[in-house]
Amino acid sequence: MALLQISEPGQTPKPHARRLAVGIDLGTTHSLVAAVRDGAPWVIPDAEGRRLLPSIVRYGMDGNTEVGVNARAAAISDPVNTIISAKRLIGRGVEDIRERYQHLPYDFADNGSMVPVMRAGNRTVNAVEVSAEILRVLRKRAEAALGGELYGAVITVPAYFDDAQRQATKDAARLAGLNVLRLLNEPTAAAVAYGLDRGAGGHIAVYDLGGGTFDISILSLERGVFQVLATAGDTALGGDDFDGLIADWISRQDGMEVKDRSARRALIEAAIDAKERLSTEMAVELNVDLGAGKIWKGNLDRRTLEELVKPLIDRTLKICQRALRDSGLEKAEIDEVVMVGGSTRIPLVREKAGRLFGRAVLTDIDPDQVVALGAAVQADVLAGNKTADEMLLLDVTPLSLGIETMGGLVEKIIPRNSALPISRAQEFTTFKDGQTAMAIHVVQGEREMVSACRSLARFELRNIPPMLAGAARIRVTFQVDADGLLSVAAEELTTGVATSVQVKPSFGLSDAEISDMLEASVRNAAADQADRRLQEQKVAAERVLTALDTALRQDGALLDQQERVAIDEARAILLAAKEGADPAAIRQAVKSLEAASESFVMHRMNAGIRRAVAGHRIDEY
Ligand code: ADP
Ligand code: MG
Repeated sequence: MALLQISEPGQTPKPHARRLAVGIDLGTTHSLVAAVRDGAPWVIPDAEGRRLLPSIVRYGMDGNTEVGVNARAAAISDPVNTIISAKRLIGRGVEDIRERYQHLPYDFADNGSMVPVMRAGNRTVNAVEVSAEILRVLRKRAEAALGGELYGAVITVPAYFDDAQRQATKDAARLAGLNVLRLLNEPTAAAVAYGLDRGAGGHIAVYDLGGGTFDISILSLERGVFQVLATAGDTALGGDDFDGLIADWISRQDGMEVKDRSARRALIEAAIDAKERLSTEMAVELNVDLGAGKIWKGNLDRRTLEELVKPLIDRTLKICQRALRDSGLEKAEIDEVVMVGGSTRIPLVREKAGRLFGRAVLTDIDPDQVVALGAAVQADVLAGNKTADEMLLLDVTPLSLGIETMGGLVEKIIPRNSALPISRAQEFTTFKDGQTAMAIHVVQGEREMVSACRSLARFELRNIPPMLAGAARIRVTFQVDADGLLSVAAEELTTGVATSVQVKPSFGLSDAEISDMLEASVRNAAADQADRRLQEQKVAAERVLTALDTALRQDGALLDQQERVAIDEARAILLAAKEGADPAAIRQAVKSLEAASESFVMHRMNAGIRRAVAGHRIDEY
């Protein structure tokens, strides 16, 4: 006879019926994973008891990859192959990165893709892959501790991350084998960790100064519902910049010349150590090993440190004021100020933020852990482990979204700081009589001119029946989901012709690219290089052939029989080589064709001169 399992009302009969869900703080400097246990969130440590995983990945020449503490140890000796700030690069284009960060030691390779890749170890990698390595370690850590496969994860992102950066973060999670329950803004997660959702309500400022980014969010809380009223930030301002200033200060002492990357990295490590100790001590001794037997000794006191970093802290305060303005609130209306991020351990940061908002700041929860803890709470809710509608979180669009209109102007459709999810539509019309297609260019940003905004996507609405200018009615609908990801639809209302796109940001990866990346970890780098050389030669061949064919069409008559045969022969050889797989053969064939065409080039020049002499301008031809 089967036994019935009996449980008291309110008790779960099967504890394993809980879905395993985690919150992950994927930080620039450190990453953490947390989960809810016995109703409370906790940060899951690794086997050695460490909670913070340095967000550092090292690619070895032997194809091995190290993540975390071991990788960090190698950052000094091997900076090119040790990627320490993937979060700063994720979802950005090469030019953007070059402009923002001049000091990065990485070896960016030009592979023609919009997604920047770096040569590291025996391969090339992009920021999505680096982030995936970090996420994979955290997933395994959690699965080992929780004893099973994860149902899903909430991953936090800076509130200021744009569409491309959010999408790239999701891609990284997918690569790492994680099911993303939701992307959550870091400051929102922190407010959840403080349980402010169960408080009396009011306005909360979340000040997050981490290693690589600064964010300020102004939240309102009413009847247990959060709404983000405004966010502002700087994706390139954080503790790393403090370290840079301190390192510069050290190298100014005694006029030390620090040129090579390893010595610079050693200086940075010394700066980090000094900075962190100065949060509790008034002065520290420095002992920097610059390699090659060079050792520098000196002292740094808190006052000097504060003088160095004050301008950066003041920059965060300016950004706070901007967010306050956007939120429409006065300082006096802020009820709580939450401190997030390791850099808020610096006493001057707490002091200045407190003075700005006119109140003591909240620091009870470890500022390194608070985001991951809040994400874990939210993950638990989204996995369905909590009853009832425990918490409804509303986030906002960090930047305005719109489309390009005539004259390169931007028509904003969803203004920044709109609560998510959101859907907005606007009608447009055709500009010319009989216009049968309309190009739709989706952009993101606050500026009026398209050229000053970020291009997200382009698509066309075709098959509009010919009508008089202004007669067609085209409705463009923007929809942003809870993760902040955009889809755009366009419809001609009189005929019902419609099209839509899931916006893939310009610097995002396609599904095909992602599966390629998975395969690429198996494929070896030498083959990649050969591929690329071949492609380059094919492109060069194509260019020469097109130019030649155009010239033949225009001036073929200038050639005599023998010249023509020589060109045709060389052309045929190049055509055949172009279909093959030997870059050297293609290059040779291009050279031969150029040689065979030399006399043709002369004939054309002479003919051009004759035409000019005949009273015409050469460009008329
Ligand atoms: P992120 O979210 O960007 O990964 P974290 O919140 O982990 O950043 O903060 C990391 C930054 O905090 C680093 O720049 C680190 O040097 C700094 N930090 C950590 N502890 C201290 C401390 N005691 N005093 C000053 N800065 C600290
Ligand atoms: Mg952080």
